[in-house]
Amino acid sequence: MSGGKGKFPLKVMCSFCGRNSKEVKSLIEGPNGVYICDVCITNSSELMNLNAQKTSPEEFAVGDISLSTPSKLKKKLDEYVIGQNTAKQVLSVAVYNHYKRISGKKLNNDFDEVELEKSNILMLGPTGTGKTLLAKTLARSLNVPFAIADATTVTEAGYVGDDVETVLLSLLQNADYDEKAAERGIIYIDEIDKIGRKSESSSITRDVSGEGVQQALLKILEGTKAGIPPKGGRKHPEQKLIYVDTSNILFILGGAFDGLENIIAQRLKHKTVGFLGDDDINIDDEKDDLFNKVAAEDIVKYGFIPELVGRMPVITALNSLDEEAMLSILTKPKNAVIKQYQKLFAYEGVQLEFEEDALKTIAHNAMKSKTGARGLRSRVELAMLPIMYDLPDMDGVTKCVITKDTIESGAEPKYTYSKKKSS
Ligand code: ADP
Repeated sequence: MSGGKGKFPLKVMCSFCGRNSKEVKSLIEGPNGVYICDVCITNSSELMNLNAQKTSPEEFAVGDISLSTPSKLKKKLDEYVIGQNTAKQVLSVAVYNHYKRISGKKLNNDFDEVELEKSNILMLGPTGTGKTLLAKTLARSLNVPFAIADATTVTEAGYVGDDVETVLLSLLQNADYDEKAAERGIIYIDEIDKIGRKSESSSITRDVSGEGVQQALLKILEGTKAGIPPKGGRKHPEQKLIYVDTSNILFILGGAFDGLENIIAQRLKHKTVGFLGDDDINIDDEKDDLFNKVAAEDIVKYGFIPELVGRMPVITALNSLDEEAMLSILTKPKNAVIKQYQKLFAYEGVQLEFEEDALKTIAHNAMKSKTGARGLRSRVELAMLPIMYDLPDMDGVTKCVITKDTIESGAEPKYTYSKKKSS
């Protein structure tokens, strides 16, 4: 296979650099008459070593999770979530550190004695601004099992133990009952603000048994071995339990925390925002500003037991979305709602377009509903329904353009027909 100088006829040359046998020390012959010279071998091997050095500290595997750097994680989030830059950065770093921590990698120095504590994450911010979407996208990027729970269902059922296990059951189910995979998963608990003890600053009127639920959550956040009935519930008392250790499960908790801005303002001795008129857009700006300055003590004051707050050391705020962000949400994310409809129409052989004004109207109307980006999809759906009802029966349509009037008053979109049909 290998040959020294002069061993090959002159016309034989390295298939990579083109040097002939006279110019190199040796040429190695591969299958199908290709050759590589010693120079290229040395260069490639140096390059490979360099790449290996570069990738090993920043990408490592935890079980079957291949983790990329915080900046790469953030880029992944950028594909699906518009804005919320600070939250994305905070989450990327926290998640990166979390999986580094559970990798249990030995450093062989004094730091091996240092125990890294789990950093569950608390996300604050108005409804419909992307909290759930961020948690979901993170789990998908990391390819780890994911479950969503609602803190208020834990409250209402009253059987605290059972309900906390229900949360874990859904993670286990999403991990195909592989408890080892579930133990590295992510659980998003929504509406966490609703289980705060009643306090003068929050708008909760009913006296929920907040503290009991908080204690139950504290247990799984701290790490416990919970016995989960694989079929759920009390109906099958005879079923064998699956034990899930929650120590390495990452909990992301989210809530709107209405009224928290007043607590933060008080601490900062800042003017409160309550007196501003409802339509005043500054309200959101000011609230966002204050939320960005949140501290753990504010959450305690909001009605949370300090032990639980201590278990969510990473706190980040999401900002309210302005009209421009709403517009981007309609069209930019990888699975943006407009792209989804365009795909549906493409199945019918029809090119779907939205006039800029139509998109602006959707965004503008959604802003008014104060439900963040939540209102966007339903608005698009409402406008598209009659069109999608008729389209499959229409002959020769090649293009459909949605106008502002289509959105506002259900006017017919602009259709283009194929030449065959129009003739
Ligand atoms: P919440 O903050 O209440 O958890 P969600 O993440 O559930 O809000 O958002 C509801 C829907 O609105 C999402 O499914 C998504 O389609 C859209 N959405 C909200 N915020 C964003 C955002 N920042 N970027 C892209 N889409 C968003």
